[in-house]
Amino acid sequence: MDNYPIAQVFAEIADLLEIKGENLFKIRAYRTAADTIKAWADPVARMDDTQLLDLPGIGKDLAKKIRELAETGTCRFHQDLLLEFPPTILDLLRLQGVGPKTVALLYSALNIRSVEELVEAAKAGRLRELKGMGPKKEALILKAVEEREKDRGRHLLSDTTAIAAELVAYLREHAPAAEFTPVGSLRRGCETCGDIDILATIDPALAPSGVEGSLMDRFVAFPRVERILGAGDTKSSVRIVGGYQADLRLVPADSRGAAMQYFTGSKAHNVALRDRAIQHGFKLNEYGLFKVDDDSRVAGETEEGIYDALGMAWVPPELREHRGEIDAAIARTLPRLVSQADLRGDLHMHTTVTDGRDDLEDVAAAARRLGYGYIAITDHSKALAMSNGLDETRALEHAARIRALNGRFGGLTLLAGIECDILADGTLDLADDCLAQLDIVIASVHSHYSQGEAQTTERILKALECPWVDVLGHPMSRRLLQREPLQVNFDRIVSAALAKGVALEINCQPDRLDLSDAFARSAHERGARIVISTDAHSTLALGNMRWGVQVARRAWLTPDAVLNTRSLDDMRALLRRNRTSA
Ligand SMILES: [Zn+2]
Ligand SMILES: [Zn+2]
Repeated sequence: MDNYPIAQVFAEIADLLEIKGENLFKIRAYRTAADTIKAWADPVARMDDTQLLDLPGIGKDLAKKIRELAETGTCRFHQDLLLEFPPTILDLLRLQGVGPKTVALLYSALNIRSVEELVEAAKAGRLRELKGMGPKKEALILKAVEEREKDRGRHLLSDTTAIAAELVAYLREHAPAAEFTPVGSLRRGCETCGDIDILATIDPALAPSGVEGSLMDRFVAFPRVERILGAGDTKSSVRIVGGYQADLRLVPADSRGAAMQYFTGSKAHNVALRDRAIQHGFKLNEYGLFKVDDDSRVAGETEEGIYDALGMAWVPPELREHRGEIDAAIARTLPRLVSQADLRGDLHMHTTVTDGRDDLEDVAAAARRLGYGYIAITDHSKALAMSNGLDETRALEHAARIRALNGRFGGLTLLAGIECDILADGTLDLADDCLAQLDIVIASVHSHYSQGEAQTTERILKALECPWVDVLGHPMSRRLLQREPLQVNFDRIVSAALAKGVALEINCQPDRLDLSDAFARSAHERGARIVISTDAHSTLALGNMRWGVQVARRAWLTPDAVLNTRSLDDMRALLRRNRTSA
């Protein structure tokens, strides 16, 4: 058992105890334990009692529950608590702004046990009567339900990609001669994806007859299928464990390009493309591009053929959102988008010195294997006490150790950096004279997420005043499908970043992807510098670069726009601390 699910159980226990109105110290003990375990690098399931008791905030009782979870996969105390409440009550806690206290109140005063009952009561105006509620809070709760609905059925790009790859590998085993292409939001590289759409084409010359029918049988028999929603000769739909819907479509090999174009979308892009087809005397559908006069087909085997026949350059899937790509494709001015191969270094990662899983040398060795020319080690600063964040002395000692490794990993240069917390009032967590001695400083928000737009904007602007801040890390501090972005005046932050030479990060953690494509594009159009960094907390997570590159491509970024596509010297010369002129 990983640390995360164990931490989850403890967090749920804390929530349930709080709904029950139990002793605050007890509640806090479970919450602290959940935080500790989540942030801990080594798997607690493999620790013995002595090691467990050494963890901060873990006493005998909690250690016993960790052992129980590790050995049986469940915890009796947790299960008993779940029996006391309807299981739907925990759904209420997933609504933004609804904490255990509110849930307890809703349950005890109005017997509200589910989101449906909550909506009903809110619409009937019954919530505002409750102590500490009022019409404003009632409206906020309804809005939170709406937000949740919007996210329902959406999944992270990384998770969706993994499931789709597993499904394709499974199908390919059955029909090696077929071609399988995931289309839809997945192919466009959207930060969250809805359904998984897969196109299959089978070249009849290569495949035994009857393989088409058996391919559909094979698809609905995928071991992770929960429910079959529809099964036909050319299209089947299933629901997969984890809440994914997957569709498989079998299309004739000679209209593969048309089907790819059609099912990749987006809707807005396709509507615009169809309009262009009509203007030129064509009609466009999933089978091809046809002349209106005589119904003869002019393209359809490949996507390139279709765009070409419409007098346009082929449009990379990431740009197909009807945000200017049609005109640019006609004018042949589409940008040369950045790709993963352009990246020469990674400027944000953590080691065991704070909350990373792997030590400095392992991280460096892994980065070298990826072929990078440079990396920046940027562990946390002291405000993140839970992560064992560094104070000035430890930060400088760590920097010395990092620099001492240079020369030991071939051509890889290690830069000594830090991810310094931006405190609630906008001051930085570490003193200027410490930050000045490092090679690179990322400033990030990790607390006080709901100060409101004016205060949050001022807070970040103040942090950018510090002359040693080179990069603003995960500028919106969002968690996809979990936490809304910070409310800030983004234009003012971009202006300040431009004036001071601060680069803005696209953070590659799959549930951050922050900046988003839209923000990254607007920052780039105003001339801001962008870095794409993994914020890896393990050697494995260095591979997350691909997700940030997807965001960058959707943001129309060229290699030039990204700082870490440059050589070490060129990149360093562009860091704020090394700028020769103001
Ligand atoms: Zn961070
Ligand atoms: Zn970080």
